[in-house]
Amino acid sequence: MPPVFRFAPSPNGYLHLGHAFSALLNFDLARQSGGRLLLRIEDIDPARCRPEFEAAIFEDLAWLGISWETPVRRQSEHLADYRAALEELSAMGLVYPAFESRAEIARLVAQREAQASWPRDPDGAPLYPGTAKSLAPDARARLLQSGAPYALRLDMAAACALVPDPGWIERGEGPGGETSAVAARPQDWGDVILARKETPTSYHLSVVVDDALQGVTEVVRGADLFWSTAVHRLLQQLLGLPQPAWRHHRLVSDGEGRKLSKSTGATGLRELRAQGATPADIRRRVGLP
Ligand code: GLU
Repeated sequence: MPPVFRFAPSPNGYLHLGHAFSALLNFDLARQSGGRLLLRIEDIDPARCRPEFEAAIFEDLAWLGISWETPVRRQSEHLADYRAALEELSAMGLVYPAFESRAEIARLVAQREAQASWPRDPDGAPLYPGTAKSLAPDARARLLQSGAPYALRLDMAAACALVPDPGWIERGEGPGGETSAVAARPQDWGDVILARKETPTSYHLSVVVDDALQGVTEVVRGADLFWSTAVHRLLQQLLGLPQPAWRHHRLVSDGEGRKLSKSTGATGLRELRAQGATPADIRRRVGLP
């Protein structure tokens, strides 16, 4: 079976040099290994994703000389798949609704931090400080009935108890240069959100479901997602999904060493193209042959 690679951008902005590096690397590796390249549109957030960004992704990738298999999987069209996985985790007793708003969570974190330090996840966000996991069943039922919004969270302690070894073999490089056997600590992420009342999925859930459904065998993505792999390994094992090979790659920075963001005009592919850059110039700028 040929290896299966994927490039999985979110259409919530225009592509920049960092995306170009990731997409070209996947494309090159697929070619060199006689593999396949899939393009997946990660558009589960209707507030931030827009069709014009998706159209621009296709245009920019084609301009770079990348080709991919069709039809493209658009996550917003497959919510039933994610809901099924969520129900599986729910049936295992690993999911609970948490009703705190973002503002309330911020207030709780400030309260905790006033007393002592409060842990943060590998991305620097404070862990969920709420107590919804231990809500009495009747209080929980009342809140659900009231129509209050909620997030569905993974009971991380219970999940970790079921998966003794969520580690993985890294074939690329982590943010601290981590390679080969990585001892994952999904608990460092706390009770991550798996879904919301209005959206039956999240980044973590949809990415593991899709990689399995699409038969992805090689996950090649930026080192900014390195520690998320701990959560992905945990979910894969809970759901009985196969493990792809992992290869995290360096991040392209701007001239001053800062991470690129969606709004980095100077490194946007459209801007560079308008200034006369060629696809070969882009390859050179991101350090690819
Ligand atoms: N959609 C994610 C992003 O744009 C990438 C997901 C992945 O490669 O796992 O950052």
